[in-house]
Parts: sequence; C-alpha cells; structure tokens
Amino acid sequence: MTKETNYGYMRQELKKLADEGNLRRLPQLAHDGRYVSLGEQRMLNLSSNDYLGLADDLDLRCQFLEELTPQDFIPSASSSRLMTGNFRAHRRLELELAHLYGKEEALLFNCGYHANVGILPAVADERTLILADKLVHASLIDGIRLSKCSYFRYRHNDLNHLEHLLSGQLDRYERFIIVTESVFSMDGDRTNLRALVELKRRYPGVMLYVDEAHAFGVYGPQGLGCAEEEGVTDDIDFLMGTFGKALASEGAFVVCDRTVREYLVNRMRPFIFTTALPPINAAWTRFLLQRLPGMTERRERLRGLGNMLRMAFALKGRHLPGDSQIVPIIVGASDRAVLKAEALQRHGFYVLPVRPPTVPVGTSRLRISLRADITDGEMERLIKHLQEL
Ligand code: PMP
Repeated sequence: MTKETNYGYMRQELKKLADEGNLRRLPQLAHDGRYVSLGEQRMLNLSSNDYLGLADDLDLRCQFLEELTPQDFIPSASSSRLMTGNFRAHRRLELELAHLYGKEEALLFNCGYHANVGILPAVADERTLILADKLVHASLIDGIRLSKCSYFRYRHNDLNHLEHLLSGQLDRYERFIIVTESVFSMDGDRTNLRALVELKRRYPGVMLYVDEAHAFGVYGPQGLGCAEEEGVTDDIDFLMGTFGKALASEGAFVVCDRTVREYLVNRMRPFIFTTALPPINAAWTRFLLQRLPGMTERRERLRGLGNMLRMAFALKGRHLPGDSQIVPIIVGASDRAVLKAEALQRHGFYVLPVRPPTVPVGTSRLRISLRADITDGEMERLIKHLQEL
C-alpha cells in the first residue's frame, strides 16, 4: 500500500519515458572478444569505447599476468589515499603520466565522472566564471552545477561566441575557466585547441579545462590526446583523461602543475572521500600506458576507418558529422533511431541508438564507435548496411 503511494510518481515517469521511446533498459549481453551476443544474435561490438581494441587483446593480458605475483595482485586499496590507500602502484602511474605529458604532476581519480564532478567545484569560487561548451558531457555539467560560481554555456565549438561572453565579463570576475572536450562524445567532432590557447593568452585570468576522454589513446604521436597532437599540452591547466575507453582499464587522471595537484588533494571531495582505485588496476593501467606510444599502427588504422566511412557517405552526397572515430548518424525522432539500430543489429553490428537526455531532443542518433580491429570486409558490409537504412 505504502509502496503504491510512494512509487507511483516513478511509475508514471517510466511510462512517459516508454511512450516517448526513451526508456532505457540494461541489455543482457554475453561478451566474446570483439563480439557481443543478445539471445541468438552475435554482433560486432560498435558501441564500446574500446577504440584501439586493447580490451580484447589476450596477448596483452597474458604478458601482464606473466609479470604478476600474488603479492602484486592487490585487489583493493581498502581506504582513501589520504588514509592508508596510497599505494606504490598509484604513485608510479602518476609519475609515468606526468613524465609522458611533460607536466609537473598528475593525480588519479576512480573514474572520469569523479574527476569532472569534483575538480570544478574544488577550484571554482564565487570570483570565478565558468564558460563551458554547450555540448560538454553530463559529468562536466554536474561539476559546474556543484560549483559555487556563475557559468555560461557557449554555442558548440563557437569560439567567437565564447570570446564575446568572456570579454563582456572581464570586470566582474577574477578568474575564468573555459571547459571543453577535445573530441566530443556524442558528435565525434573536435575542438580547435590551438585557437582556445590563443584566446586564453589574449585575456588575463583564463584557465583551460580539457576533457580528453575520447582522444586519449587515439590522437597524438604518443597517443596522449589532441593537446599532444596540437602541441599545446603546456597551456592546458587541467588536462583530464580517462582510462576506461581506449586504454582498456578504469579510472581517470588530470595532469597539471604541482600547486593544482596539492590543492585538489586538499579540496576535491570525490578524491578525498572515496576508496582509491585498486592498486592492481593502477598497475594494469601503467602496463598499458607504457605501451601506448608504440601503438601508432592501431591509431592510424582507426583514423583510416573513420575516413573510409565518411568518404563512402560523401560519395553518395551525404555528410556525416564529426571527424574522429566516433561517427554519429543523426536520425531525429527516438523511435526511428531505435528501429534503425535494431535493423543494423539484425545484420550483425551492435550499434545503439542515443536518445535524450544524452543528446538534445530531436537529434536522436546512431552512434558508431569505430575500433582499430575492424576488418576490411566488416567495414564494407557495415557501410553497405548503413547506406541502406
Ligand atoms: N567525460 C566524457 C567526455 C565521457 O564521455 C565520459 C564517459 N562516457 C566521462 C567523462 C566519464 O568517464 P568515466 O566513464 O571514466 O566515468
């Protein structure tokens, strides 16, 4: 009786989501390397963020396991890093990151969501103004909302709009934090980081926060991301990346100055009040990170696949947005996106519809996550079926 009354509003909301075609359910997938199965249907997984195909690479796992001893296999940090959870594996990974990026310091987080929801509230006060791209990830939006400061959202990748907003507020704030992704998760397009850095240099008190979640591993000569590729790593104040995508692990990091790290250790709640990453996980991440610079072939293959797909559509007079390994095919209404995704799944490609609130209403889409280990034959079939949709 009480449950009926207490949960009634939830049932209504769920019914509304179902009526709009926006109800989400957890798929009961069986995983088999690059493939996933749903019931009888076996499909190539084009919906994960395993862009380099590392998560399914058994050779890598075997190499890692060969070096591992039961003493190193520490499955839990058992407390926050500020208590007893600060293990050698954490620090070694941070030092490796700082070294690769050529930055003073690095700090680990349990996931990208923690990083984004925690860094901004820690560093932004009431004399700070945040200027964020309209399409930044939900975790950044939540971080902005938790910050005790004002914010503006500038039109997606529109640096003129950003500059207009910034120049109009110079007298009112002491500090400005520009927040963007380098590769946008749902549109697959990139930010011009060099132009952002130039803008930063023209105004006092400006800091840059760049989320490289979808670029880390994929771009740059060593796979460190777009900032590395564009040669602007030094100019990014908070360069954040995640390990759960191309790097086939879990967790996240920021590379930054020593002062910033020390400040975050003292002020960032999702860093302070959580059990640290399992040391074994930090060791696995470091093992992969050390091999990342050598994975140029995989990165080139991935880039080639993206070009191939976009080119095939361009030849048919259709423009696919973005210019990365994330290829969105915008459909519009959610129910149509669901039907088209189901059609592709019947052809053996696990592509999912992305719907509101993840993307704006009316822009539901198929989001294809390319992976470096797609074969030429699979790519041809994928293109054929996509064009027939
Ligand atoms: N930033 C971006 C741009 C993302 O796409 C995601 C995850 N989808 C995150 C942060 C969160 O990272 P994590 O999955 O490690 O929490």
